[in-house]
Amino acid sequence: MSLQEADILKALDAVKLPDGTPLGASGRITGVMINDGKIICAITIEAPEASAMEPVRAAAEALLRKLPGAKTVLVGLTADKAPTRAAPAPGATVPRATSKPASLPGVKHIIAVASGKGGVGKSTTACNLALALAAQGLKVGMLDADIYGPSQPKLFGLRGKPKLVGPRMLEPMERFGVKVMSIGFLVDEEQAMIWRGPMVISAITQMLREVAWGELDALIVDMPPGTGDAQLTMAQQTPTSGAVIVSTPQDLALLDARRGVTMFQKVNVPILGIIENMSSFCCPNCQHISPIFGHGGARLEAERLGVPFLGEVPLDMNIRATSDEGRPIVATEPDSPHAQIYKRMAAQVWASVTQGTSARTAPRIVIE
Ligand code: ADP
Repeated sequence: MSLQEADILKALDAVKLPDGTPLGASGRITGVMINDGKIICAITIEAPEASAMEPVRAAAEALLRKLPGAKTVLVGLTADKAPTRAAPAPGATVPRATSKPASLPGVKHIIAVASGKGGVGKSTTACNLALALAAQGLKVGMLDADIYGPSQPKLFGLRGKPKLVGPRMLEPMERFGVKVMSIGFLVDEEQAMIWRGPMVISAITQMLREVAWGELDALIVDMPPGTGDAQLTMAQQTPTSGAVIVSTPQDLALLDARRGVTMFQKVNVPILGIIENMSSFCCPNCQHISPIFGHGGARLEAERLGVPFLGEVPLDMNIRATSDEGRPIVATEPDSPHAQIYKRMAAQVWASVTQGTSARTAPRIVIE
C-alpha cells in the first residue's frame, strides 16, 4: 500500500523536538506531499530556532528515507513568520542587513533571471542565456526556482530523476553542457502550484545548497515570477552577483518589471540589466515587422531607472518552437541571428558580473 500522510506523521514521532515532543504529533509538520516515492514536507519553526532545529530536520529526513517505498525525500524548515512583507514600495525603508548569506562553495557567480510577472519569456531567456554563457566556455548551471511553473526540464529536453549522491545531495541533470536542477524533476507541476510561500522558499534553498553543483563559473537562477515573499526571500538569502529582469514592452509588464528592479535594489542585488522580450514580430512570410506589444518600452524604462539595457529579443516562431521542443535555439542553431542576440546579451551580463561592479553579495534582511 502506498504511503499516506498519516504514515509520515506516525514515523516522525520517532524524532523528538529539543523539548522532547514527538515531531509527528507536534503539529509542526506542514505541506506533506507524497507522490511516487517522493516525500516532501516542512517543519514549521520560529526564525530564531533555525539552528536548534536543523538536527531535527536532518533526523526527520534520514528517517523518512528509510520508509519502505521512499525514493526522494526533502524536509525543509519553514518559518511562517519569516519575511511576510511584499516587495517594498519604491522609497520604502527596508531594515538594514546584518549578515550576508553563505556563498555556495565552488560557484563563482549566481545570476538571477527574474520578471515582474509570468508569461513574459523569463524561462526561455534564462535557458538561452545559460547556454550562451556555456558557449563562451564557462561552466554553467541552471537552477529552476520557478517553482510555480518549472519549465527548464522541458526547455532543456530533460526527463527522469536526479540521482542521490551521498546521504543528501542530489546530482544535477546535464544537457548541452549545462547542469540543470528543477523542482520539476521531483514533483508534479500541479503539486508545486499549490505550495505556500514558506514551502517554496524551503524547497528553493534546498535546491540551491543540497545539489552537487561542483565547480561553476555561473549558476543561472530562473526565479519564480513576481515580486512577492518567495522572490524577496530568494533575493535576500541567495548570494547573488546580480539580476537580469525580463519584460515584454507593454506598459503593464513594464510596471511589473519596475517592481522587480526595485525589489532587487532594496536588498542590494545589482541589476545587470533589462531585456525586452517579444519586442517585435517579424512575419515569416512577408518579413514585415510588427511591434505587437509596442516596442522600445523596456529600453526607455531601463534609462529611466538608470540600469543597463541588455537588448531586444523578437517574438519569433522559431524561438517558441525550439523552446517547446527542448532544443533551445542557442544550443541547436548557435549561428542563427536570434542565438547571436542571446550571446551578445550573455557577454554583457558576464562582463558586468566579472568587472566586480556587480559582484556584491546580497545582505540578509533582519526579520522583525
Ligand atoms: P515565463 O518564464 O516568463 O513564464 P516562458 O519562457 O515560459 O515565460 O515563455 C512563455 C511562452 O512564450 C513559451 O511558450 C515560450 O516558448 C514563448 N516565448 C518566450 N519568448 C519568446 C520569443 N522571444 N518568441 C516567441 N515565443 C517566445
